[in-house]
Formats: sequence, C-alpha cells, structure tokens
Amino acid sequence: MPAGSVPLRSAEPALLESPAVLAAALEAYFAFDATGRVVAWNPAAETTFGYSTAQACGRSIEELIVRPEARVAGRAEVAALACGEPGQTLDRRRQWMAWHADGHAFPVEMTLTATDEPGGRVFHAFAHDITTARRARRFTAVEAAVARGLAEADSSATAAARVVEALGVKMDWPVAELWLADDDRQLLTCAARHVQPGRRLRDFALDQLEPRVGLPGRVYAEARSLWIPDLSADSGSIRSRAAARAGLRVAVGVPLCTGRHILGALCIYGDRAEDPEDTLMSLLSGLAAQVGQYVERRRAEELTIELARTKDEFLAMVTHELRNPLAAITGTAALFNDDLDELTRDEQREYLQIITRNAERLSIMAEDLLDLARLESGHLAINATATDLCTVIEQAVHAATPAEDKQLTIALHLPEQLELYADPHRLRQVADNLIGNAIKYTPAGGTITITASSDDVEQNIRWTVADTGIGIPAAERPRLFRRFYRASTALDLRIPGTGLGLVITRAIVERHHGTITLAEHHGPGTTFTVDLPVKPQ
Ligand code: ADP
Repeated sequence: MPAGSVPLRSAEPALLESPAVLAAALEAYFAFDATGRVVAWNPAAETTFGYSTAQACGRSIEELIVRPEARVAGRAEVAALACGEPGQTLDRRRQWMAWHADGHAFPVEMTLTATDEPGGRVFHAFAHDITTARRARRFTAVEAAVARGLAEADSSATAAARVVEALGVKMDWPVAELWLADDDRQLLTCAARHVQPGRRLRDFALDQLEPRVGLPGRVYAEARSLWIPDLSADSGSIRSRAAARAGLRVAVGVPLCTGRHILGALCIYGDRAEDPEDTLMSLLSGLAAQVGQYVERRRAEELTIELARTKDEFLAMVTHELRNPLAAITGTAALFNDDLDELTRDEQREYLQIITRNAERLSIMAEDLLDLARLESGHLAINATATDLCTVIEQAVHAATPAEDKQLTIALHLPEQLELYADPHRLRQVADNLIGNAIKYTPAGGTITITASSDDVEQNIRWTVADTGIGIPAAERPRLFRRFYRASTALDLRIPGTGLGLVITRAIVERHHGTITLAEHHGPGTTFTVDLPVKPQ
C-alpha cells in the first residue's frame, strides 16, 4: 500500500487509493464509481452508516445508505451522474435522510464531487450526521413557540392549546396533551390536546382521568417523569393499550410543577422516539416548568376575580335567601295580627306553619353559615362514637317532609343495621342535606332511592342517594362542591338554595376519612355516593 493511503480493503471493483487524511477525518468519506459501486469508505463512514469498510466496498451505494422507499430515485440519481449530468447532488451541499445499517433513518449533510480516474469517473462524498444540530434547532423552535404562545395567550385555555400545538407540530409528535388537576386534586382534565391531522384516536381520546390512571394520572400522582418505550406492553394502564390501538408506540410524560405544587402533566405520544430519553425529558421538563409558572400566575389572577365574585355571590345569596323568609315571616305575622279575630283555627294553624317553616329555613342557613366559618377556621368538630347508619338515615327520611302534592316515592334499601365509628349528628347533617336536596330537586311523581351496605370484608360502607329529578349538567359537576355554587338547572327553575350544603357535607364526610362523589347516573336525575370507613382511622 503506498504511503499515505487509507487502508481500504481490496475488493471488486478496484479500490481507490486515498490519502491518510481521509482515514483520520471526522467527516464520513465514501466514493463510488459510475455504476454506483462503493470504492472507498473511511472509518468515519463506518461509524456514521454502521457498515465496516469490508462490508461496504463493492456494494451499490443506494442499497447501503438510501432509505428503502427512496432507492429507485437513488438509482436514477446515480444513473444521471454517470451520464455526466449534475443530478440533484453534484457540487452541492445537501441535507437528506440517510439510512443506517441498523434500519433507522437519520439526517445527514453531504457534498458530492467527481474526479476522472484511470478506471472511469469516481464520485466522492463527504457527509456528517446532523441529528444533534437538527434537534437543537427543533428544541429552540419549540421553546420559542411555547414562550410566544404563553406571552400572547389571553386565557389559560388558549395558552394550553398553543403549548400542545407547538410540541406536536414542531417536534412532529402525533399526540401532545396538557392535563390539569382540578382544585380538589380529585380529577385531571385534558386542558388541550393536539392531534396530527388524519389520525384517529378512538377510545384513547379521554377528557378526564383520575389521579393514578393512565400516563397523565401516574405522572401527576407520583410527581415524576415517566417514559413508556412500548405502549402495547404497558400492562399498568388500560389507556396505554388504547394508545397502542391508535397506532402510538412510545409515550413520555412530565409533571407540570411550580416548585411547590404539582398542577398536572404534559404528555406526548408518538410512533417512535427519535431523541434520547434524557434529552427529551429535559426539554419537556423545562417547558413544563414554564407552563406551570404561567398556569399558577393565571390561577392567582383568576382566584382574585373568583374571590370578588364569591363576595358578590355571598351578598346576593344573603340578601335573597335572608330577605325572602324574613319577608314571609313579617308579612304573615302582620296578617295574623290584623285578622286575628276573623281567622278560623285552620287558617291560624296555616299562618303559624308558614312562620315556622320560614323561621326553620333561616335557622338552617344560620347553622350552615356557622359551619362554613368553622370549616374555614379548621374547627368543625367531630365527636365519633359507635353509630348505626341505618338509624341515622331512617330518622332523616322520617323528618324530611316532601310537600304532599309532590307525590314522591322514597325507596329505602337498607340492612337491619350498619355500625360504624362516626359522629351521629354530623352524619345526620349529611343525610339531611342529601335527602333534602333529592326531595327539593325532584319534580312531582319522582322517586328517591337510598341504599347502604358494607363491603364483603366489612371495612367500608357505601351509601347512595339517587333521584329522578332535574339533574346536574355534566360540565358543571366539577364545580359542584364549591362554596355558593348552584347548578344552572336549579337556578333556571328558581328553586331556593344557598350552595352551602354540599360544601359542608363533603367536609364532614372527609373528616370521617370518607369520600363523596357524584356518581355516573343513567337517565334523568342525580346520584350521590358516599364511602365511609367502618373503623376509626
Ligand atoms: P343548595 O341546595 O342549598 O343550593 P347545596 O350545596 O346542597 O346547596 O347544593 C348545591 C347545588 O347542587 C344546588 O344548588 C343544586 O344546583 C345542585 N344539587 C345538589 N343536589 C342536587 C340534586 N339531588 N339534584 C339536582 N341538583 C342538585
């Protein structure tokens, strides 16, 4: 071998003698003749394309480094070059997607020149992998798009949409989602989802998830980033399998945090992960931190507005809910006084009933407001003792008096006894509120069904109150347990109420280490489910 030549293995056809500088070059160098056969292949080409010099030399260039779907075009390009045409590549700097020996495509930048050698024309290529440079450019573009999206957004919803769009479009991920937890940290809602045009997600496209369920739920509950390399093999989640059915293979999720709190999760789903796990995670974590700060800032602004609104609502409620019964009491008392001599005994009784009913309404409201104040200051007392839930429910049903013309049916499905460790007075408050609401919000002829039973191991009691009444629109359900919140169905029908009962009810249930939820309800009406532990916690 002449001094200074690259140690290229001898093979068919005759190999080109190359200077030693090419053996040392960091740039991949390869050469091919007019038939497309490789005649030189330096060590950097071995690393870049994954074939050893021995494997590459003598084989056709397009078979080695052109993607299968582009090989026909590659052959045409070599044929054009052989005929002395410049083709698309000769004497140009070009970027294109090359093919690696292990079967993956990657971007390269390449220059191609030609020399005339004794054996004919030879084409010389210098190429380098530009994956990292492209990634850096893509990441910068995403970061800029997210920053711009957040700066220009006039609401959290627009900001969320811009973030997922930037991730999906600029990073070429088929699905990007931003999930936010509600105020009670009980439910995650998909605030925005970007889906590649033409892709059908079917049962994967859920809008609400509980913490711990699916990738967003797990990322949120565990407060850490998760990488699922193969969605179809992810036995921990039903949603992963739905994702796999929608043609998605890999998924990455990072928590959306502000340093102090976890607010939700940012998740992307794709056919393949082009970028290394740690690089992608750090990009996503950076974006999630940016989005988290934005969401927290907006929430603080929204909270200020909400507080002002709550104050207004409180004033409106007090004015309305106090004024009406007071007006009824004073008006009836005045009539009673004026007409006392002419009133029959039945009329007197009727007037007194009106006064009593309205006075009770006022006293319940005063109690609720006091309980709310105790709740806010953390002083809602619970005096637990051995309590029979069936007795509590039966007494509440007995005391509840639906107006006679309503003709409601109240069906009780209770065992003989259901003993648990709880405060009987507070449980009675829960029963009064749930049963009272069911009666109040169910029109004439409806049915109220109350069930309670313990689980197989007698550890927990499930108690449900279902009615066939006016119902609560699905979109309003997440707000139901907020102070003063009243559903549009109740407001539209002008049914009186304060929006305090459920807040207090939930606080009592939670102080017993239980939960209260609005259950899935089929047909018109509402079902509340209360789960309570039997033993002291
Ligand atoms: P109030 O009934 O005094 O308004 P609550 O806190 O008990 O206050 O209930 C809050 C809201 O939830 C009600 O205003 C009503 O819109 C809705 N709601 C509660 N229970 C029911 C029910 N069984 N059916 C329909 N709506 C209900």
